[in-house]
Amino acid sequence: METRLYLMAAMLIVGCGCIGFLIVRISNPFLKGLGWLAATFACGVLSTAILSLDGHIPRFFPEILGNFLSDVVAYMFLNAAILELTGSKRRITWFSIALAALWLPGMMVFTFAHNSHQLRVEFGSVVFGLQVLQSAIILVRSQEKGVRVPCLFTATVLFAFSAFNFLRAGLTAVQGLPQDLFAPSPLQIVSIVVYLTAPLGFAFGLFWMSTAKLRLSFEQLASTDPLLGIANRRYFRSACEKELARYQRSGEAFSLLVADIDHFKRINDQHGHMVGDAVLVAVAKNLQTHLRPFDLLGRWGGEEFVVLLPACPLPVALQVAKRLRSSIEEWSQPEITPSGTPIPITVSLGVATYLGVEPTLDDLFRRADKALYRAKSAGRNRVYTSDGPEGEQTANNALQSLYGYHGT
Ligand code: GH3
Ligand code: MG
Ligand code: MG
Repeated sequence: METRLYLMAAMLIVGCGCIGFLIVRISNPFLKGLGWLAATFACGVLSTAILSLDGHIPRFFPEILGNFLSDVVAYMFLNAAILELTGSKRRITWFSIALAALWLPGMMVFTFAHNSHQLRVEFGSVVFGLQVLQSAIILVRSQEKGVRVPCLFTATVLFAFSAFNFLRAGLTAVQGLPQDLFAPSPLQIVSIVVYLTAPLGFAFGLFWMSTAKLRLSFEQLASTDPLLGIANRRYFRSACEKELARYQRSGEAFSLLVADIDHFKRINDQHGHMVGDAVLVAVAKNLQTHLRPFDLLGRWGGEEFVVLLPACPLPVALQVAKRLRSSIEEWSQPEITPSGTPIPITVSLGVATYLGVEPTLDDLFRRADKALYRAKSAGRNRVYTSDGPEGEQTANNALQSLYGYHGT
């Protein structure tokens, strides 16, 4: 087959890829990196079109412009896709600019001053290999939780592609190139196959990464409270369901805290809703800093927080609740009010430990809520357990004899 036929086939495949990515990108603007990937493929199409006209147009176009588009600009776009996908603010690196600045004069010299096709292939392959290597390194460095597998897959394809370019440069240096461009050597045929399949491989990898990231961000949106950035009610409940299932297997008690800001309406009324929101954010942050990494803080609604304490018996849960209460009472946030005056903030907490007595999670929530109600009725800024079922009574009694605890 003639080289021109390979080029036509390449143009068709790369063109279809480009159109495909454009359609997906336009129909789903949340998919990151695909616009740049479409631009990468567009450069490939343009460059292949120019290369296929070799012999009919001045040498500058196929030998400099065509190769500049396919080997430099296209892979700058690929790098931009990777930078966008990995959350970087930059779209171009100094290393890419330096490679482009090296490539152009180098190719001009090897085309017009020395006119050596062999040197062009060697030099081009090394610069190109470095460009691809850079993209692979960016991917490996940025491995984000949840997208590790597609990230590593894409990086592997890019590392292999980069290695092939260095190998090609080496083999060309050792073996030389046939003079007739349209009678390709085995190395040139392998190169064409690799140059066609590698873009399919990394394009698939980036598409996979992009969809995985989109799924992660939707999961994040569905499980997080938009104002406070902590678990929302739905996510919190499902975490509790899992803990309940775990209890049934392991018999390890877990606890639930319900914390409600005292007289929060007054804060809103006196300082406005914006300050009220800032107080909520600050309280959420404060509570979070006093919890263990595997405890889960959630917003139940309004100014009411919930905490799931896995593997936590009642005495420990009470200690945690007391710690949260006193930390909020002792802490003041002068920056919350525009005037800088600290707003006294306190919380009341209800504590309930699951001891296998209640048949459903709702019963446990009801017991924690009842405990909170008791804390409010007793004057607020306190920690209480409920007068709930026998299981907790037993725990309470044990605690009373152990710690002399009656609710603080
Ligand atoms: P208590 O000590 O009995 O809990 O009194 P409270 O004033 O805290 O409770 P109440 O239920 O009377 O008022 C809660 C207030 O919280 C009313 C509501 O406007 C306010 N609120 C609920 N969600 C938000 C929010 O997202 N932002 C702000 N700024 N206020 C909120
Ligand atoms: Mg309240
Ligand atoms: Mg409330």
